[in-house]
Amino acid sequence: MNSGLSCTVFLPGESQGIIGIAQASSYSLRIEWGGSTVEFQYHALTAARGGFDNKMLVLTATDQQGTYSFYFDSKALVEAMSGYRLPPGLANQLTNATPGKGAFRGVAFWLFLGSAILVGLYFAVVALSDKVVDFAVEQIPVELEVELGKAAAGEQLGDMQVCSATPVNAAISEIGERLVQGLGETPYEYRFKVVDVPDVNAFALPGGYVFINWGLIEKADTADQVAGVVAHEIQHAVARHGLRNVTARAGIWLLVGAVFGDVQGLGGLIAGGAGELAALSFSREQEEQADTLGLELLYAAHFDPSGMPQFFQKLKEEQARLGLDLPSFMSSHPNTDARIANLEGRIATRGKVMTTPLSVSWVTVKEAGCLPAHHSDADKPVAITPEKGIVEGDDAP
Ligand SMILES: [Zn+2]
Repeated sequence: MNSGLSCTVFLPGESQGIIGIAQASSYSLRIEWGGSTVEFQYHALTAARGGFDNKMLVLTATDQQGTYSFYFDSKALVEAMSGYRLPPGLANQLTNATPGKGAFRGVAFWLFLGSAILVGLYFAVVALSDKVVDFAVEQIPVELEVELGKAAAGEQLGDMQVCSATPVNAAISEIGERLVQGLGETPYEYRFKVVDVPDVNAFALPGGYVFINWGLIEKADTADQVAGVVAHEIQHAVARHGLRNVTARAGIWLLVGAVFGDVQGLGGLIAGGAGELAALSFSREQEEQADTLGLELLYAAHFDPSGMPQFFQKLKEEQARLGLDLPSFMSSHPNTDARIANLEGRIATRGKVMTTPLSVSWVTVKEAGCLPAHHSDADKPVAITPEKGIVEGDDAP
């Protein structure tokens, strides 16, 4: 802007404009008219649209004399000032006041750079998405996780009937209590419930809600086999696998938000995904982890660890013989042989260990049956914590 830029100057209190010449420098704008001069630093200037048809840019500034207004041709001013580093406030005002896109190159450049950084971040995040999901999951507070589990448990229970027979409830309480004691420190209160569903299945929801189908009880030859499946399911929940799977479905920006401490958006999405929890299948790694940790839990709770691979083997053989589908806790990855081999290898390495039988006989449990009953307030799942032992659940669904 060596030659200066012409503008119309309105002096404080004057309604008649006069022709002036503006000269921009690194930090200020100097305006001359008829032998007089004012100079304003950029941070003292504000910009807005004005003039005929709102097609001009008006810079205003105030000194002891009052407020000055300088009317410029938009394009000329924007070009003249694009080479200088302007304070963000003024740069934004110029961008907003400039008709058409990208007219103000200085701002356009920063916008471009900003977008480039965001796009770069996006791809970095996508490339790292596994780690981002892990990190986002770590940010989810236990309270939110328990809320999710509770919502999902309520949905699961729905109109289902629960088993009311004393022997099966006594057996599951004992299995559950021993496994939870085996976990040691846990932030959750566990609730175990046997439901009148014929599928051979069990699952643990986030926050300590564990459901065991009557079909699994009927199919199992021993309490240790049931303990094996339940231990596996508990470890899915402890490792937050279900929570992770629901979280992984969140949009990348929700995840980024969670990484930076805003779990609200994620919380809403996760709460909405409660119904999906039981439907999402686990990855091969998650299954392997639940097997291996579940086996450790069986040792800690003094169950016969062989119960787990025995039951997998039994289901696999039956499935082959009858051409049935594997239960969902085994079917997400059909590599049942590898899973059995992994478990048996670990058990062989450990050698013989002491086990404690259940106080109720398994034959009695199966003979007494389920006695399905409607779920009621008086029939809430029991909450079990390592410290408190069995506690009647007050807020369980
Ligand atoms: Zn599993």
